[in-house]
Amino acid sequence: MVRLFGAQAATPKADIIKDWAQDPLTATHLDTHAANTHAPAPNITAQNGPWHQSLVGIGSEWSVKFPGYVAGAVDAANIGVEQYLRSVKA
Ligand SMILES: Cc1cc2nc3c(=O)[nH]c(=O)nc-3n(C[C@H](O)[C@H](O)[C@H](O)COP(=O)(O)OP(=O)(O)OC[C@H]3O[C@@H](n4cnc5c(N)ncnc54)[C@H](O)[C@@H]3O)c2cc1C
Repeated sequence: MVRLFGAQAATPKADIIKDWAQDPLTATHLDTHAANTHAPAPNITAQNGPWHQSLVGIGSEWSVKFPGYVAGAVDAANIGVEQYLRSVKA
């Protein structure tokens, strides 16, 4: 957070836990009653075909470890950057 927003972000004034499923402008009835997990991630790369080894999903939903969370976005983006760097070195 400090890297993104500067030194002030090291000393937050408050932590807030918000249940978005209870927010009528954000969630529907299904959000309250759906399974309490995100869907499992699909393969992060194309397994075959013309995009094989040329396409990497860098959004949160492609993260096997944390699908649907900010941590998943970071995880998937890291994998995408690593694969790109490997491909330009090859
Ligand atoms: C209400 C809500 C609450 C959440 N709370 C939490 C939480 O408490 N903790 C947590 O870890 N996660 C939370 N999440 C999930 C988290 O926000 C997402 O998992 C994360 O932001 C996904 O990041 P991303 O980079 O994969 O995708 P995004 O953040 O969705 O980024 C995708 C970007 O691509 C852009 N884009 C889309 N289509 C195109 C296009 N055709 N061309 C160019 N740009 C395009 C979009 O505008 C967007 O900026 C919450 C999500 C929601 C909706």
